[in-house]
Amino acid sequence: MNYSLDVCWMYHDIMDLYGDKGNMMVLKKRCEDRGIKFTLDTCGIQQKKDLSIYDLVFLGGGADKEQISLIPDLLSRKENIQKAMDEKTFILLICGGYQLFGQYYIAADGSKINGLGFYPYYTDTGEQGKRCIGNIIINAKLDDLETKIIGFENHGGQTKNVVTPLGKVIKGYGNSFDAGFEGFYNGKILGTYLHGPLLPKNPEVADFVITKALQKRHPSFSYSDLSLIDNPFENKAREVLLQRFQIK
Ligand code: GLN
Repeated sequence: MNYSLDVCWMYHDIMDLYGDKGNMMVLKKRCEDRGIKFTLDTCGIQQKKDLSIYDLVFLGGGADKEQISLIPDLLSRKENIQKAMDEKTFILLICGGYQLFGQYYIAADGSKINGLGFYPYYTDTGEQGKRCIGNIIINAKLDDLETKIIGFENHGGQTKNVVTPLGKVIKGYGNSFDAGFEGFYNGKILGTYLHGPLLPKNPEVADFVITKALQKRHPSFSYSDLSLIDNPFENKAREVLLQRFQIK
């Protein structure tokens, strides 16, 4: 069968911290290596787009200033994003993007940014000037896939009341200084604080995201239907980090 994957990267011009763009490059390469046609579209502030036509919607991380600047536009798309999720568009959110799908985010200067409110989680500001920064490793369960996810986090926001976290923190902070858990995953959206960017260092997660996105148009498609790809550089990067923290 000829597969194709249509992706929309929201606010690509302002939400791209710590190489989040690399996530899109990895999806493109891993799709094209398998003969899956990959199309990347973008959606900026005030651009007319129906997000429900895509297989995957991606929103990266950003500084408070950028988050504040895009919020009126994002909130105006709430109904359309709900429609996209109802129609099984998979949503991948990093850091600042992840925060905005919850109830609210209190920025470092104390201002409150209302989120889309799809989920009960909310993000408070931490103690003045304190941020969760550094390498992070988590044990995650993505449907049937159990994997260690590695990355880098840098966020002031402390996300609380996460009912279905993405994984358990082995090294680093995660949703907040003392959370012990990282990110959010509910089968429809994957939100995480992991930059690095996320997908180049975690090929299994990249293939999982491709699988979820393909399932929109091909519900019976499964992770094991993807042909295998060698990941020598990715595996080396993972090995180095896991060894550094003496994690098996
Ligand atoms: N501005 C947000 C925070 O500091 C998100 C940062 C990010 O996306 N890395 O918590």
